[in-house]
Amino acid sequence: MSLISLLPVGKVDRALLVPLAEGLAQHLRAACSIESAGLNADFAFNPARRQYHSTEILKKLLNGHAPEATKVLAVTELDLYIPVLTFVFGEAHLENGCAVVSTHRLRQEFYGLPPHPAVLAERLLKEALHELGHTYGLRHCSDYRCVMSSSNAVERIDLKDAEFCSNCRPAVGLGRN
Ligand SMILES: [Zn+2]
Ligand SMILES: [Zn+2]
Repeated sequence: MSLISLLPVGKVDRALLVPLAEGLAQHLRAACSIESAGLNADFAFNPARRQYHSTEILKKLLNGHAPEATKVLAVTELDLYIPVLTFVFGEAHLENGCAVVSTHRLRQEFYGLPPHPAVLAERLLKEALHELGHTYGLRHCSDYRCVMSSSNAVERIDLKDAEFCSNCRPAVGLGRN
C-alpha cells in the first residue's frame, strides 16, 4: 500500500489538511499522514512576481522528506508559478513521487466571491488527486470528467469528478470500474 505524506508549506489551515488526508486515503486506498514540521518556502519566493516558484519547492522535496513515504504531497496556501505561466494550481515530478498543490486560486474569495469551504475542499481534493496521478506516471486525460484532465481554471476543476476514469485507474493501483 502507498504511504502518502502531506507536507504543509508555509502556514496551512489544518481544517484543510485533515479532510484532504482522509479524502486521499479513501480515493487512492492509501495511508495518508500529515507531517507535523512544515517547510518554509521563502527560498522559492520571487519578489518581482510576488509568487512562489513551484519547481523550486519540488526540488526541495526531492532532497529528502519523510523517507518512508512513497509519495510526498506538499500543500500550500501560497500562490505558485512556473516561469512560462501566470500561475499553476500545482506541479508534480513524474518519476520521484513528489508533488505540490496550492489552495490560493482554489478559493472563491480569490474571484471576489464569498468563502465556500465545501467548494474549496472539493477543488483541493481534485487538484491533489490530479498531481498525485502524475507521480504515478499518468499524463493528462482527454476525458473531461476524469480527474487527470488538465485544468487551467477553477471552472474546469469544478467540471471534473474527484475520480480517475477507467483508463487511468490502473496506473494508480485501482481496478478498472
Ligand atoms: Zn496535470
Ligand atoms: Zn482518465
